[in-house]
Amino acid sequence: MADVVVVGSANVDLVLPVQRIPRPGETVLASGLTRGPGGKGANQAVAAARAGASTAFVASLGADESGELLRTALSESGVDLSLVSTTGTPTGTAIITVAADGENSIVVAPSANAELKLSAEALDAIRSAKVVLSQLEIPFGTVQAAAEASSYFILNAAPAAELSDELLARVDLLVVNETEAEAVGGSLLERVAAAVVTLGAEGAVILSRGADEIRVPGVLVEVVDTTAAGDTFCGVLAATLAASSGTGPITGRDLTNAVRRANVAASLSVKTAGAIPSVPHGEAIDARFA
Ligand code: ADP
Repeated sequence: MADVVVVGSANVDLVLPVQRIPRPGETVLASGLTRGPGGKGANQAVAAARAGASTAFVASLGADESGELLRTALSESGVDLSLVSTTGTPTGTAIITVAADGENSIVVAPSANAELKLSAEALDAIRSAKVVLSQLEIPFGTVQAAAEASSYFILNAAPAAELSDELLARVDLLVVNETEAEAVGGSLLERVAAAVVTLGAEGAVILSRGADEIRVPGVLVEVVDTTAAGDTFCGVLAATLAASSGTGPITGRDLTNAVRRANVAASLSVKTAGAIPSVPHGEAIDARFA
């Protein structure tokens, strides 16, 4: 059984470099088109596996060439795909325009992701995992069911959404960037016991009820492409927590150590272009993480 189970989305990313993002009603020409594996769930599963955790992915793909592209990329990174289901609906697709100044705009067709439900086998894997990690590109009901079955549940509340108290009551650790933190609403610690807010180049901050906040400063790197920085952060965080927990519960000290390692890993990911291609391996992370 896997130590980390990621329950989430898988998309094929169609990336279109443009001078500037088109305005409503406008057509612009792209300088190229690349097609590659992505989706928050897939990126995070790859990050956890490359960071050294035994990782299973629970996801829904179409019976199409995009689905095959994702299966190949995931299995090459060592992700266990035995809980990935195939449906008659096409694989999810993201259309990403990236402007010359680095700004982007993204439209996602969830397609097969919208059909993700937890099978009995998936629920067994979730129950026995040390850490379960999910995001919000799949149905809320599936996220809720995964949270209820997990012993330690990390929710990366992305894309930004308002969250119900019913779901947050089942979340052990919330991971959000600053925009997502605002969307959750209210003071985070009134709603969850522990949260990590990522701050881009500034690193991250750990908030825990009854404890002082802990700032983990950013690592100075030359930025090439920040795609999948947040996903790398979440996957490596889950992998490191799963490795640290031993047989006992995850402690505050485990969390601080895992956030520091995730922060190093995410900084490495921004030095390389692309989503999955930019996700670092454990050796590269630990060469820079004492
Ligand atoms: P998201 O990519 O989800 O919007 P952030 O921008 O907060 O989230 O980035 C997530 C993490 O990636 C940060 O906490 C940090 O570890 C790393 N990171 C992002 N941008 C940079 C950067 N310019 N320099 C160094 N690290 C970065």
